[in-house]
Amino acid sequence: ASSLAFEGVTKRYDTTEALAGIDLNVEPGSFIALVGASGSGKSTLLKTINRLVDPTTGRVLLDGEDVTTRDPTEMRRRMGYVFQGIGLFPHLTVGENIAMGPRLVGEKLTGERITELLELVDLQPDMASRLPAELSGGQQQRVGVARALAGDPKLLLMDEPFGALDPVTRDALGTRVRDLHARLDLTTIMVTHDMAEALILAERVLVMDRGRIVADETPQALASGK
Ligand code: ADP
Ligand code: ADP
Repeated sequence: ASSLAFEGVTKRYDTTEALAGIDLNVEPGSFIALVGASGSGKSTLLKTINRLVDPTTGRVLLDGEDVTTRDPTEMRRRMGYVFQGIGLFPHLTVGENIAMGPRLVGEKLTGERITELLELVDLQPDMASRLPAELSGGQQQRVGVARALAGDPKLLLMDEPFGALDPVTRDALGTRVRDLHARLDLTTIMVTHDMAEALILAERVLVMDRGRIVADETPQALASGK
C-alpha cells in the first residue's frame, strides 16, 4: 500500500481558494473518508494526488516522492481512480472499459485477467461482452471499481463513487470495496458527502470546510459526538 503526505498544500483558482493549507499524513493501508459540504475542496484535494490539479504552493508526496517530479503516466497506472457518478465509455464493452487504463500505457489485459477483475466485484464473466447500457446502475459502478483495479494499484482514489446508487446497492458495493481494500493491500481515499457512509467504511474521517481540514477523527470518536 502507498503512503501519502501533504505539506502546506494550497490551490487557488482565480479568486477561489479551493485548498487553504493542507498538512496531512496518510499511512499505508489506511481507509480515509473525506467529507464536507459541496465546494469545501474535497475533489480538488483528491485531484492533487493524480495531478489533474497541481498545488499553487506546497507539495504532495507519494511514497515519499513529490508527485510533480514523477512521470504522470507511470504514476497514474499505480493508482486506481473511481469517478464521480458512472463514468464508463458507453460505446465500449465492459471488458474494453476495464482494459482501457492498461491499454493507454501499452499493456493488454488477458480475458482471464478481465474475468478475475469482474469476480472481484461480484460480476459474472459473461458481463465482459455487454455494453454499459445493458447493466443496472449498481453493476455499472462495480465495473467502475473493476476498471480502477485493473492496473493493480496500491492507492485507490474514489470521488463520490456510490452517490448515484440506491441505498441497498450502495451498502453492498461499499462493503465490497472495504473488503478489497484489505485484501489487495490498498491505501484508499474516498470522497463522500454522506457522513453515515464515511462512518461505516472508513478508519479515519477527515472533515473539510472552505479548503481546510477541520476535523480528523476515527468514526468512533465522531459517532460519539465528541
Ligand atoms: P468539493 O469537491 O468539496 O465539492 P471542489 O474541490 O470541487 O469542492 O471545489 C472547491 C472550490 O473550488 C469550489 O469553490 C469550486 O467552485 C472551486 N473550483 C473547483 N474546480 C474549479 C475550477 N476548475 N475552476 C475554478 N474554480 C474551481
Ligand atoms: P467535482 O466536484 O467532482 O470536481 P463538479 O461537478 O463540481 O465535480 O465539477 C466538474 C468540473 O468542473 C471539475 O473538473 C471541476 O474542477 C470544474 N469546476 C468546478 N467548479 C468550478 C468553477 N467554479 N469554475 C470552473 N470550473 C469548475
